[in-house]
Amino acid sequence: MPASYTGRFAPSPTGPLHMGSLVAAMASYLDAKAHGGQWLVRIEDVDKDRNVPGADLHILASLQRCGMQWDGEVVWQTQREALYEAALQQLAENIYPCGCSRREIADSQLRLGQNGNALLVYPGTCREGLAPGKTARALRLRTPQQPHRIVSFTDRWAGAYSQDITAEVGDFVIRRADGFWAYQLAVVVDDAAQGITDIVRGADLLDSTPRQLYLQELLGLPPPRYLHVPVVLNEQGEKLSKQTGARAFDNGAPAEVLLREALLPAARFLGLGVDAGSIEGFWQAAVPAWARLLEGMEK
Ligand code: GLU
Repeated sequence: MPASYTGRFAPSPTGPLHMGSLVAAMASYLDAKAHGGQWLVRIEDVDKDRNVPGADLHILASLQRCGMQWDGEVVWQTQREALYEAALQQLAENIYPCGCSRREIADSQLRLGQNGNALLVYPGTCREGLAPGKTARALRLRTPQQPHRIVSFTDRWAGAYSQDITAEVGDFVIRRADGFWAYQLAVVVDDAAQGITDIVRGADLLDSTPRQLYLQELLGLPPPRYLHVPVVLNEQGEKLSKQTGARAFDNGAPAEVLLREALLPAARFLGLGVDAGSIEGFWQAAVPAWARLLEGMEK
């Protein structure tokens, strides 16, 4: 265990909290509390096209309704773009402009990642310079070619995980064609700037972690520890999201309804055998239950 612990919940404000994001919030909150640590909240709004006005404040109100109070000030990534620019300058010798469209990359190479996600592996078309007739769109980070770069780490929930980022991802985007900062860069810069020691989030981000570890190494940043909890699926086996029919968190519902319909089901999903008659009682039971669950797993 790190001597001090700082965790975080980092929602994208693309809609209200739902069972899927509540599970991620709860797991990160419980892990911070079980370690006597700090729990920060960061709004990841770099993808300005996907932001839904008011969703950030709605999510924050939901967390408070659930009794999940964050430490310190909430930060918004759109207010931190100077930090991403500084990181880009630091990476400059490994960055190149790319003129390929998503379509061109999809036509050339499409692979499935370890968890079945479709991965667009960049074939390296612009690595040695923009192809004739192309204009610069995105900025990409060079991945080592010989030998391939294999990044391995031990996830506190999922166990050993290894990815050949050269073969499975390729040179990845740092600043997007639309001018927005890529999630991979912003998340790494902010986690370090906020002193995050432990990242607890959904397993849909497991295959992003090797890219983040690689970026941390290039930027000289300390790697945090990772714990990826299973993602909540709908009846069709799709990751729960607004698009796949997730029910929005109702900030106006009475506490006993939130307990019964949100907190207890999220805790059950995480494998916590807790019962409680109040939100306060719920957290009193859930923090030690989480610690026991993890102890069993980390043995
Ligand atoms: N903003 C990301 C999301 O809402 C989470 C990022 C992270 O936890 O690293 O899916």
